[in-house]
Amino acid sequence: MQLYNSLSHKKEEFIPREAGKVSMYTCGPTVYHYAHIGNLRSYIMEDILEKYLRFTGLDVKRVMNITDVGHLTSDGDTGDDKMLKGAKREHKTVMEIAKFYTDAFFADCAKLNIKTPDVVVPATTYIDEFIRVISVLMDKGYAYEAGGNIYFDTSKLEKYYVFNDFKEEDLAVGVREGVEEDGNKRNKADFVLWFTKSKFDDQELKWESPWGVGYPGWHIECSCISMKNLGDYLDIHCGGIDNAFPHHTNEIAQSEAYLGHEWCNYWFHVHHLNTNSGKMSKSSGEFLTVSLLEEKGYDPLVYRFFCLQSHYRKSLVFSWENLDNAKVTFDKLIAKIAPLTADKSGDIDKAEYDRLMAAFNEALGNDINTAMGITVLYDVLKSGANNATKLALIGKFDEVLGLDLIKKAEAKASSADETPDIPAEVMELVEQRKAARKEKNFALADELRDRIAALGYEIKETREGTQINKL
Ligand SMILES: [Zn+2]
Repeated sequence: MQLYNSLSHKKEEFIPREAGKVSMYTCGPTVYHYAHIGNLRSYIMEDILEKYLRFTGLDVKRVMNITDVGHLTSDGDTGDDKMLKGAKREHKTVMEIAKFYTDAFFADCAKLNIKTPDVVVPATTYIDEFIRVISVLMDKGYAYEAGGNIYFDTSKLEKYYVFNDFKEEDLAVGVREGVEEDGNKRNKADFVLWFTKSKFDDQELKWESPWGVGYPGWHIECSCISMKNLGDYLDIHCGGIDNAFPHHTNEIAQSEAYLGHEWCNYWFHVHHLNTNSGKMSKSSGEFLTVSLLEEKGYDPLVYRFFCLQSHYRKSLVFSWENLDNAKVTFDKLIAKIAPLTADKSGDIDKAEYDRLMAAFNEALGNDINTAMGITVLYDVLKSGANNATKLALIGKFDEVLGLDLIKKAEAKASSADETPDIPAEVMELVEQRKAARKEKNFALADELRDRIAALGYEIKETREGTQINKL
């Protein structure tokens, strides 16, 4: 397959180091708050990549870290500790916060049909490993102690700016957000491997180290967790484009300095999800979470479908209107598949199956072109093949797309059978309520729900759509 590699700035044929096997690493969440749907876009697209690699017969081992210590609010080495900030906000301990938001993250992933990586490592369980690797970097002369902290010396590298050419604004990253520059650094781009100087008296999580009691920097986490679980060579490293600099740049610097050879061959970066007012963040504008989508009556898989409609290397603009459009398209797609489930008899038409499967592979195999993959799904529906062939293809494609297409279509087909029993008066109110929800008139929607209840029916929003049950 062809995959765009951020390191070489071009599409390349993907060739794993070991035939038939893929080692894949994903930067995990910092578990101090809920993930916003912009973060989750990255995880959805990485999930598609993993599933497609498996689909082609490759044996994938995927590893992810959980950042439960030491990730600061700035991408540089300054700013507040996000974990500590979360704990203070909610009057909990850092470990309670980490547990709560780790669970919340995986619950969101489950709702979005994102597979949990084979190995998930919380950073706090790998402190000894961080210390070991930092010690090696010290011994090799790639790290130095200054003002109590251990820094990586970027001047010792032949090339530091691996993803892009040097830009003055890149350096500004470490000193943005109004925090002062770190005077201990020998070079502006140097970064902290181990902190012993916390500006917080109540920093909860600290460990003994050869350089004093302290805690690890963020970047060292991923290098160590990847190398320990996936070995000295990595096939694919994934993450949001935000992480390319400085996080991934620093990961490469440390890993290659430690190993003494090149480390990762392919870098897969998912671009931003923006709102109409700019880049999505937790701190500005509406805090968009999976729970919020559900509260507003959206099936989380509609959001997954929305993401798949565009390419992962393009910024995507989120608005409720855009999501509504995706919902309408998704519902229509399910409605088209539903009648196929009634009669699945007949043999698979091998020629049609192969032709359409080749088209799907051409789409996904061309740098994970999910939008094209969905077009092939419509081609299946339009084709002259019998239901058995169409359903076999749709089921197979969905191993990658992860939209529960057959399950939803079957649920729709069976709910269509039951609808005639419900009185017209109730159905009319249900339709009015749908319209009210679409206009986000939740007060009216609630009122209509009560009126439906008064007529003896209960209305429920489920992943398969609106369900009406007799009370
Ligand atoms: Zn990382």
